[in-house]
Amino acid sequence: MGETEGLKTSVDATEVEPESSGIDTTIQWPQWPRAVSGEQRARLRKSPALGEILIAQNLLTPDRLQEAIEQQRQSRKRIGLILIDMGFASPDTILDALSAQLGVPPTRVNSYTITPEAIPCLSEKIARRYAAVPMLKTGSALVVATANPLDLKALDDLRFAAGCKIQTMVGLENEIQAALDKYYGNRFGLREEEESGTVVVDLPGPQLDLNDELAQKSATSIVDRIIARAVADRTSDVHLEPTKHALRVRFRIDGAFHEVANLLPALAPAVAARLKVLSCMDIAVHRVPQDGRFSATVNGRGLDIRASTYPTIWGEKTVLRLLDRTALQLSLSSLMTGKTADAFGGLIRRPEGMILVTGPTGSGKTSTLYAGITELAELGKNVTTIEDPVEYWLPGVNQGQTNLKAGFTFARGLRAILRQDPDVIMVGEIRDPETLETAVEAALTGHMVLSTMHTNNSVATLTRMLEMGIEPYVLTSAVTGVLAQRLVRRVCEKCKQPTPIPENLKPAFGGNLPKTVYRGTGCPDCRGIGYRGRTGIYELLTMDQQVRRLLYAKASEDEIQSAASDQGMATLREQALELVREGTTTLDEVIRVFQDLGSPQAGQAGRSKPRTRRASRTSARLERPV
Ligand SMILES: [Zn+2]
Repeated sequence: MGETEGLKTSVDATEVEPESSGIDTTIQWPQWPRAVSGEQRARLRKSPALGEILIAQNLLTPDRLQEAIEQQRQSRKRIGLILIDMGFASPDTILDALSAQLGVPPTRVNSYTITPEAIPCLSEKIARRYAAVPMLKTGSALVVATANPLDLKALDDLRFAAGCKIQTMVGLENEIQAALDKYYGNRFGLREEEESGTVVVDLPGPQLDLNDELAQKSATSIVDRIIARAVADRTSDVHLEPTKHALRVRFRIDGAFHEVANLLPALAPAVAARLKVLSCMDIAVHRVPQDGRFSATVNGRGLDIRASTYPTIWGEKTVLRLLDRTALQLSLSSLMTGKTADAFGGLIRRPEGMILVTGPTGSGKTSTLYAGITELAELGKNVTTIEDPVEYWLPGVNQGQTNLKAGFTFARGLRAILRQDPDVIMVGEIRDPETLETAVEAALTGHMVLSTMHTNNSVATLTRMLEMGIEPYVLTSAVTGVLAQRLVRRVCEKCKQPTPIPENLKPAFGGNLPKTVYRGTGCPDCRGIGYRGRTGIYELLTMDQQVRRLLYAKASEDEIQSAASDQGMATLREQALELVREGTTTLDEVIRVFQDLGSPQAGQAGRSKPRTRRASRTSARLERPV
């Protein structure tokens, strides 16, 4: 028996005889469902669109339909729901029209039409996967409401999962989702085998009040709301922090923290459990940190979410990192402009050498490297990476991920890549001498190696490498350039106001005071933050004769710095102050990014905050008295 035959029998209406089941049903059947057959699918192809049906029945005007179609382009919701939302049609009108279009009886989906005993006939996982609500169990069939009654593959899977025949009715998507949350969601998704991997959130973002008591009734709805609100606020990381008295919710927006809600502390375990289920973590494990990921569709927009837990004294803290692929800039020209862009673009296109991108966490290093290697992959080069972890999947790039448990470290990954005939290698981060040595070797043997280091500026990166045991002549042959970078928040254009320059900060501008500097006062556009969006600043040091000579001579960082300035390299701090001068950012922001403005004579900004003991000794040695 062929596959189509099997599919056909699975939904063959002749096998279902509801009249003989003798069950009193609260569902009013206007007509008994016909079989979903090949002919019916053909019929659907020929059948008029929902809008046309409504117009033909004088239930909708063409103008209103047009208006709804415009709306649909933005929200990507089903046209029926949009017509209901806009008040152009009632739910019953839409359902009747859908029924006429699909040849399947309509049903409202709510507590009056659902027989609770039918719910266990489908597991939550299956019900959610196919957005199908079990409505009623008759003698030999399960009546299921779905928005896609003609999806044969779904029907076949539902039949298999329920172990009986499936009778479909067409329901409204929003009512189906609400019913799924109501009948399955209340149990806080605590069963591990159920639903993991993906979440669909369809909530209007900006009006979300996370402290809404109703929302706090279920962990599922609170998680949905947090994700929806986070996306609406352009959040990069969501922190869910259990404290003694509350579950604190904080968002990182453009690099800065904002507290958005304090939820009932009793919610914390259920919220953590829900997120662990979604990201395939072990929900029974509470005392060990875990990590995982899941994808979410928020109001039609897809994003990847990386989740991690950390056991604190008040419970498990969860951090969600939101990776929005649409926001990722995959070309260097969208990140940087002018001389720096040309020079950096030229360096990465060379056949060999080593380029390091440096800066603290959250300074945009990964974005820069990703944009760079995407361009190289487009040129047809073989690009292979070893990352910890892979943040975005890049087209045309062979991306690998470290696995410490299995002993798959950066150094080991790098040696493996070298056996894979690469042109370009990206190493997520150089932290240890072993990785550094292997990377340098690769750069000296005809490969372009791109990596990051955790140093404050470009010159410090070179001295750090010398400290890690690389000989100056090796370093100067391998490294072709170092790019230091920071992300600086842009002041909100809608609410920026001139503000006086504090007396103690005036020396930072070195005698050339800007006429006006600004600060954001906060408005609806920036959610009261005063900033909106970020811009990158870049300091590119290229290896030239002069820098080489100074490195051989074991010159101080300041000497190398002034040689680089002669090259025309503007320091990060100079560029940040230039942004203040242009009115792109604020003095407060520059202080936040660099911790300290200091005076122009203090040398490079940021050196006052070394990362490691090793670096700390160097800084102390190299720090010039001010
Ligand atoms: Zn504003």
